[in-house]
Amino acid sequence: MDGSGALGRSSRGLSDVSQRRRHVLVLGDQLNRSVEPLASADPASTRVLMIESAALAEGLPHHKQKLVLVFSAMRHFAQELEADGFDVEYLKCGDFEEGITQYLGKNEGATLEVIRPTDWGYEERLRKAGHGAGGTLEVVENGLWLTSDEDFDVWAKGRKSRRLEYFYRMERKRRGWLMDGDEPVGGEWNHDAKNREIPDDDHVFPAVPRFEPDELTRSVMDEIEEAFPHHFGDLDDFAWPVTREQALEALDDFVTNRLPDFGPYEDAIVDDEPVLNHSLLSVPLNLGLLTAEEVCERALERWRGGDDVPIQSIEGFIRQILGWREFMRHIYRTKMPSLRQANGLEHDLGLPGAYWGDETGMRCVGRTVEQLQRSGHTHHIQRLMILGNFALIARVDPRELNEWFLGCYVDALDWVVTPNVMGMSQFADLGSFTSKPYAASANYVNKMSDYCPDCRYDPKSSVGEDACPLNSLYWAFIDHHAERWASNHRMALMVRNWERREEEDRAEILAKAEAVREALAGGGV
Ligand code: FAD
Repeated sequence: MDGSGALGRSSRGLSDVSQRRRHVLVLGDQLNRSVEPLASADPASTRVLMIESAALAEGLPHHKQKLVLVFSAMRHFAQELEADGFDVEYLKCGDFEEGITQYLGKNEGATLEVIRPTDWGYEERLRKAGHGAGGTLEVVENGLWLTSDEDFDVWAKGRKSRRLEYFYRMERKRRGWLMDGDEPVGGEWNHDAKNREIPDDDHVFPAVPRFEPDELTRSVMDEIEEAFPHHFGDLDDFAWPVTREQALEALDDFVTNRLPDFGPYEDAIVDDEPVLNHSLLSVPLNLGLLTAEEVCERALERWRGGDDVPIQSIEGFIRQILGWREFMRHIYRTKMPSLRQANGLEHDLGLPGAYWGDETGMRCVGRTVEQLQRSGHTHHIQRLMILGNFALIARVDPRELNEWFLGCYVDALDWVVTPNVMGMSQFADLGSFTSKPYAASANYVNKMSDYCPDCRYDPKSSVGEDACPLNSLYWAFIDHHAERWASNHRMALMVRNWERREEEDRAEILAKAEAVREALAGGGV
């Protein structure tokens, strides 16, 4: 690859195979020099293969910013490796198999070292392709993670239910993070109850850094706009970090400015504040530009170094990375491929057009999708309690929702989307690691966000023209699965509340919910 950003054959050519004793395959979510195999690779004797797969880009109607993000970050990484003396073969191919075959055709019998892929099926695919082309694939443990497969498997063995809390505590003890001997610093393992504050109207949230596209990113933007003009999402506002340097700047900015209040506003939703105190670090983390360890260490250092980061903020943040992020990828690893096909609640509504931007009049859904269209990102509570909840209580087929999440978010990868959508959000696995579905009526949205006052629907009504659709859908969801929820200790109360209502009221609410579902199936509400 030459320094101008044009991608093609290495400027050194491929004739010096004997000089290049190591061959490393770098995937698009492994853009990191600090972990093996690149950590120990001598640039002068290592050839790096990177493959831009058209099949991956074309397989789903990806958000345009997601494609730009991944391709730009890959191309920047390739350029940096070249600048450091690596010989980089950057191939644009139909798929990974084609790229590997092409490479091994020129590097006969080479052993390709690769970090163990996290997405299901890839290791097998790459291995087969390498073998088929006369080479070998050597898989190296994935040093981007904080926990090992073995630790999780030993912990999970024989447990009836897998709950994040106990895995997370074990890992905190193992690392000694936020520990005072054997006890958690501050006396509590979990500060979630304090992390549900609602900001005052005049609360000012810290500004978020923007990384304006450079020439290379702009050229990728032009390519994507031309190749996928009808894909979801706008490119105008692209401002994601695409290099290691920018990722470090994003990390530094977060720990300096947003970490102190990360905890208190973790669950809040504010209409005009897309980020609040969230880190936005899923983007560089999922590309491999940052390791989970350095992110946590940097946050812990900031907490130790001052008195303005309360325990509820640092604990809340470490819980997300050492806890949820690791836990979800183990859930995925141990439950695939069945997790992707799960539909334990037998939901069957097609994905409503609202998820592609069709107008429903529901401000919470409309504004969240608008934000997603603009940036390719929304924060966790919007994912879980606005978009996830709406689909859950409308009884949308979870597999359709999973595909949609996989395509529409810049930080989406199968290993993280599938357990979050199928498990946490849609209960399609019938609660293999959650104790109840995250289902809510308009009451929750009204309490935790400021969407409702400007919405055309009334969050307090369940029936009638102005009634918020979330209310009838919620009760119909309870009613539809009443038998199942009656034996769930966290849902049984809602079933009793529902069954206590007058027969006539219930019939009216169910009729309204059916009308809403029919309208959603037909493209409206
Ligand atoms: P912060 O709130 O700053 O959290 C810090 C970090 O913790 C995140 O960067 C992320 O790496 C990690 N984290 C927090 N919660 C989770 C979780 N439940 N699972 C895994 N990691 C977590 N995360 C993705 O990385 N990609 C996705 O495509 C994605 N899709 C999701 C879909 C649904 C339906 C749900 C409920 C959650 C999804 N998540 C996903 C998890 C979480 O919402 C995002 O990681 C988070 O919103 C990213 O923004 P942030 O970096 O500002 O997070």
